[in-house]
Amino acid sequence: MYSNQKKLIAALAITKVKIWIWGALTIMVFMAIIQTFIDGTYKKNFVSFMVFAIFFGVFWYLNFNKKSRLDKVERIDNIFRNDDDGVMDLEQLANALNYDNKKIEKCVMYLISKRYLINCRFDDNDRRKIIFRDVNVKESYDLASANCPSCGTLVQARPNHTVKCPACGRMIKL
Ligand SMILES: [Zn+2]
Repeated sequence: MYSNQKKLIAALAITKVKIWIWGALTIMVFMAIIQTFIDGTYKKNFVSFMVFAIFFGVFWYLNFNKKSRLDKVERIDNIFRNDDDGVMDLEQLANALNYDNKKIEKCVMYLISKRYLINCRFDDNDRRKIIFRDVNVKESYDLASANCPSCGTLVQARPNHTVKCPACGRMIKL
């Protein structure tokens, strides 16, 4: 299990409520702005109303953003569980999620640092790689590595796993 279920469910519920609240406030301010145009008081009130609209709108957006990140946790959990070599690079994850390649690092960093994603971490030597431990055997994060006999590319995976060389496709037993 790579998702922190309890925390995730609570956070999703709170975030949904916040989206409603900030969204309603933003729409109310915009309606108030339209009203000032109708009754001709916009010169007096426009700037202060706009400040509120931006303020509420930013919180609305931030909670949308948070929800979109939280929505990925279950899918990432699923992807990790179905990948038994224990390593995944961010490009591969972005493709599997159909998500922006540039935003994926920030997203995963957020999810790990806030502990929505557990039992995984970034590789210390390569920040584009995520290592996730085998939760069934309580294995450590330690990976085995070898150079591909065909092309020399460094490959890493859990010990005793056979992996495909990312460069030439040869199967390598670690
Ligand atoms: Zn190779």
